[in-house]
Amino acid sequence: MGISENINDILLDIKKLSPDPEKVNLVAVTKYVDIETIKEVLKGGAHILGENKVQVLTKKYEELSSYSINHKWHFIGNLQKNKVKYIARFIDMIHSINKLSLAEEINKRAKEHNRVIEVLIEINLFQEDSKEGYDYQDFLNDIPALLSLENIKIKGLMTMAPYTDNEDFIRNGFKKLRELKDELNILYFNDSLTELSMGMSNDYKLALEEGATLIRVGSKIFE
Ligand SMILES: *Cc1c(COP(=O)(O)O)cnc(C)c1O
Repeated sequence: MGISENINDILLDIKKLSPDPEKVNLVAVTKYVDIETIKEVLKGGAHILGENKVQVLTKKYEELSSYSINHKWHFIGNLQKNKVKYIARFIDMIHSINKLSLAEEINKRAKEHNRVIEVLIEINLFQEDSKEGYDYQDFLNDIPALLSLENIKIKGLMTMAPYTDNEDFIRNGFKKLRELKDELNILYFNDSLTELSMGMSNDYKLALEEGATLIRVGSKIFE
């Protein structure tokens, strides 16, 4: 199978499985591939590209910046504060806010470039003691401070499921993320949280059924 056929299959799955397909976007995760292959992705009809390493992302951004097909870059990995400055001038969305100090750094760097950067709050719903994601109680305490940051815009929530065959476990996590978004919208965000970033190659179909608006798919595009 080719890249454009694989992308087409995923776009059809969005139409078929999502309760609200118009609101769903595919983030094509390009961390496995080179620039020539990324051009195939853009020609195949995916326009949001995702990377999880700052150095690789910055290099690919430069190499692709004058390419004729419009595209956006999303940062999806664990982001260190001292690297925010390298992506602040161009990044369209950061999926992985896990603490206030990171949000403050993004806000500061966005301001230097007169930009507002869209961000998602990463919530770990699968492992209690994992270091990934925002500690939920900390997040609740930090909401007033987060909302005061004028150069970031919190658009929604993100989560990552573990590799497991247990579909019910994964589905319940995705469902929980949607419920948290609805609850947070009522209590604090006045319906401004619109995005749910959940689902990767092996679980994006479940995520679509549970209301994902951003699916982050890599290997399935390139198999
Ligand atoms: C690599 C990666 C993906 C894509 O994973 P695949 O299983 O290749 O689809 C999605 N999200 C994050 C955060 C990743 O690092």
